[in-house]
Parts: sequence; structure tokens; C-alpha cells
Amino acid sequence: MSVNVTPPDRARTRDEAFADWIAGAEPGWLECRTQNRHLLEGITGRKTDLEVDRKQGVVLATETCPRCSTTVTQVIGLHDGYLQSVYGRPRYEYPEGYTLPPDATEGGVMSREQRAILRHELVAIALERMNGKRR
Ligand SMILES: [Zn+2]
Repeated sequence: MSVNVTPPDRARTRDEAFADWIAGAEPGWLECRTQNRHLLEGITGRKTDLEVDRKQGVVLATETCPRCSTTVTQVIGLHDGYLQSVYGRPRYEYPEGYTLPPDATEGGVMSREQRAILRHELVAIALERMNGKRR
């Protein structure tokens, strides 16, 4: 869930848009964003859902990241193993609010500084939990 803390009478700066996003982000989202990867077990994972579609000649291997709730589906050629999805990449379905708003980044890519801010936020969350001030 996104929380907009910027007054509506002017456009947000990039820093404000990014700060607004962080304010509504789950810690698990920040973990996946800073590490640039999800916690996935893969095609043979115990929680991976396999759906064989012989008509389309594909296997859909779907799993959900336990950290951020993003669902990742690999559409795999049944006979050749090639990914059949758009651009030959897995399909990602993100939880609402997970993706950064367009005005929060330069061209949709987080900067090194923004990743550092997320990491710093995670450290703050971890320290607060360690000190019993946050669950
Ligand atoms: Zn994830």
C-alpha cells in the first residue's frame, strides 16, 4: 500500500517520490529490491506449482517469493526447454505498491544512492527490532 505524504499542490521531487514509496513499502520488498533478486527455489522447488499445457507445448512453473510475495512464472517449452514468455524472460506479478512510481527513479532504474537508502532503511528496521521497538 502506497502512502503519499507530499502536498498535492505541487509535483513531487524524485527524492520525495522515493521517500513516499519507502514509507508504504514492506521490509521484504526492500530486501528483494536491494539484493535485486527474489527467494526462489526453482522449477523443482517444493512450493513451485507446475502446470503442463500439452496443447500449447509448454510447462508453467509458478512460485511466489516468500519475502516479497512477487509471483514468478516461467513458461518453458515442453520439448526444448526455452522460455516461451515475452522477451524470453519469466513473467513477474508484483504485489500492489511493490513497483516504484515513475517519478521516483531515473528511467525506472534505482540509483546506487537509492539502493543505499533502502539498505540503510533495512538496517534501521533491523536495529529497531533488535531493540524491541518494532515487530
Ligand atoms: Zn522477492
